[in-house]
Amino acid sequence: MSRGCCLCVLGAGTAGLGAAYLAGSAGVDTEVIERRKIPGGLALTRRTDDGYYHDLGGHRYYSPSRYLAVFLKKLLGEELIMTPRKSRFYLDGRFFDYPVRLSDVARKLPVTHSFKMLTDYLVEKARSTRSRKEESFEDWVVHRFGRSLYEFNFENYTRKVWGMEPSELSADWAALRIKGLSLGKVVREFFSRRGDIATLVDRFLYPRHGIGQISHYMKRGVEERGGKVHLGEEVVKVKHDGKRITRIISRDPKGSRKSIGPEWVASSIDLDLLVAALDPLPPPEVLTAASRLRYRDLVILFIRINASNVTDDSWIYFPDERVPFSRWHEPRNWSAAMVPDGRHSSLVVEFFANEGDRFWKAPVEDLLDLVLNTGRRLGLLEGSEIGKAEKVFVPHAYPVWSVGYREPLELILDYLDRFQNLSLIGRNGRFYYCTIDESLISGFAAAVNFLEGKCTGPKSLPIEIPDNALPHLGLEPADLEEVSQERYWSRND
Ligand SMILES: Cc1cc2nc3c(=O)[nH]c(=O)nc-3n(C[C@H](O)[C@H](O)[C@H](O)COP(=O)(O)OP(=O)(O)OC[C@H]3O[C@@H](n4cnc5c(N)ncnc54)[C@H](O)[C@@H]3O)c2cc1C
Repeated sequence: MSRGCCLCVLGAGTAGLGAAYLAGSAGVDTEVIERRKIPGGLALTRRTDDGYYHDLGGHRYYSPSRYLAVFLKKLLGEELIMTPRKSRFYLDGRFFDYPVRLSDVARKLPVTHSFKMLTDYLVEKARSTRSRKEESFEDWVVHRFGRSLYEFNFENYTRKVWGMEPSELSADWAALRIKGLSLGKVVREFFSRRGDIATLVDRFLYPRHGIGQISHYMKRGVEERGGKVHLGEEVVKVKHDGKRITRIISRDPKGSRKSIGPEWVASSIDLDLLVAALDPLPPPEVLTAASRLRYRDLVILFIRINASNVTDDSWIYFPDERVPFSRWHEPRNWSAAMVPDGRHSSLVVEFFANEGDRFWKAPVEDLLDLVLNTGRRLGLLEGSEIGKAEKVFVPHAYPVWSVGYREPLELILDYLDRFQNLSLIGRNGRFYYCTIDESLISGFAAAVNFLEGKCTGPKSLPIEIPDNALPHLGLEPADLEEVSQERYWSRND
């Protein structure tokens, strides 16, 4: 079957749906192709037959974009709730506040240990004006926080998340994700009993039925505006004439091939998949560069709990090397609607993995044993009656920015820049470690650029909705008054 459309969007995660929503609002004929059967991509929410909801690892909404908060409030209405946040991490037999607070650490660790952290930090602070080699995550963090705090708060968890040494991970990732701390605040906080570093956010916005509700509402919005979202369809070929993308070939669930001749294309599918789907194929050096892009995968264990709750934490992080998983969250602490009733809870446990490794292949019973044995050892699951568990795979959860990642990435982006009707949007679409807000905004920005007859360049990623996109989203400057008093963001975890 062959047809034409104005904008063809590859992938129905938040970025793809953002592009389609805005284009539809402007009256543009839009089609979205998504290989999964539900929208949302990494930010989808699974609903089980017995009435539980869970994200693929808890997703809280946070953003410096004030317009986006207004947009989401308008989109979701009463379904967008404010959720209290309490996070802790477990290390060396103790629980600490997360993000780390030196006053908390000082209370719980031997005085000598915490003073070492403070003095290491002060020494680094004094040296920081000198230019030093800063290639890796380890260099970046040690230079800003000191080695003792790095070893305490960053080293183990980073190793677990990425499956590599922090010295192999690029400093770019640290620069993007970790906020520096002001010297005055650290010293004040260290000696205070409570501590109050401004980056601690104690509440966040969350849709009542899970983060995937954003994508369900966006999909509905796309369809109400005349767009089509094809779920369960996989993009298999992206045909081109060297200057423009000419056809998108997809395969539906029955194996039939479909073809769309688009005027514009916005791609949020993994960058290496896009490169491999190009027809004709790009030169060998571009294919080699695409094969050098790496991703970190995730295995989720979803566990039903026959009790009203396990703890009152939003998340617990487990940097400790003796704990096999990295983090868990309890969805009912985010929203009571995530469980069937007040007598039940659930846990979503994250095992960072590489496709095919021991966690990837482990039977669900083995993963459950690991969680139960560890949870009981830490005093967290005593007395909780455990129900059925399910294992969920999240391939390509994180683009890996290892040392040297930029060279192949730039080669690919330079090559793709020749296509005059192709914009790259979103997280894996740009191989950029972005969050939901940035993905949505990248979709909005690409669509509004198409309306003006241009593509979004490979290097730009706005953090606020562009002014020329606002009217298409029903937003205006007066809306900002509503959010001026509220804090929605932190980039500290
Ligand atoms: C464990 C975890 C926790 C996170 N927590 C947070 C958080 O708390 N807050 C936050 O803001 N962000 C968080 N993020 C990041 C957030 O999930 C992403 O930034 C966002 O979902 C990316 O959206 P996207 O549309 O760019 O990409 P994706 O969600 O990856 O969407 C791409 C879509 O393309 C589809 N696709 C791929 N290949 C094809 C093909 N060949 N044909 C058709 N379709 C295809 C995929 O199925 C997918 O639906 C977290 C991510 C993870 C993994």
